[in-house]
Amino acid sequence: MNLDIARKKMVESQIIGRGIEDSRVIEAMLRVPRHLFVQEAMSAQAYSDSALPIGEKQTISQPYMVAYMAEKLELRSSDRVLEIGTGSGYHAAILAGLAQRVYTIERIPVLAVKARKLFDTLGLTNIAMKIDDGTVGWSQEAPFDAILVTAGAPRIPDGLLKQLAVGGRLVIPVGDEKEQVLIRVRKDEDGGFSEESLLDCRFVKLIGKEGWKGYE
Ligand code: SAM
Repeated sequence: MNLDIARKKMVESQIIGRGIEDSRVIEAMLRVPRHLFVQEAMSAQAYSDSALPIGEKQTISQPYMVAYMAEKLELRSSDRVLEIGTGSGYHAAILAGLAQRVYTIERIPVLAVKARKLFDTLGLTNIAMKIDDGTVGWSQEAPFDAILVTAGAPRIPDGLLKQLAVGGRLVIPVGDEKEQVLIRVRKDEDGGFSEESLLDCRFVKLIGKEGWKGYE
């Protein structure tokens, strides 16, 4: 099947069909060519309803999960958003269409370099990226209106909470090494935090100072 048609069908059945309502998220999912972010041999599966391997034992998340997390961040076009776990770069490319500027951090250099090339090819000039341990955030650019973590954490990193603006949202999978719950934390006007559990999920490990240790 033609990949543009496959993308349209993916959005109709997996995104709109499962209840994603934010029209800006839907438009971004229609616009960004996911097949460029998967390994070339897998481009025919790029619009399937699943996570796919991207090398280095890492994955590009399932399209529905990408859209769901993006919707839960409640992004405005003036927002500055931090993503931990660039991976293929696909999620960052979706966020780039929803926010003013995206800051994304990846710990594995070879993945980061590939993603950077794709951002350049697609003309996504509002994405800044660095190779580092994202569990400690990006203090020079903080505070952020939204923070997205796309790897499973043992607990919510304190450093990320500190880098959230008042009214800001943090979406993060938290749990054990196999299964997590997607959590959204909001920083309230009084500086406190409110937390809600969204859904069960499975992500690769968030590795680093405020993540899983001993895998570096
Ligand atoms: N957002 C990605 C995408 O669209 O392809 C999915 C990423 S994959 C599920 C999770 C990524 O988080 C992996 O590439 C992994 O190397 C990265 N990661 C894990 N721990 C990290 C850390 N402490 N800092 C930055 N990246 C990290």
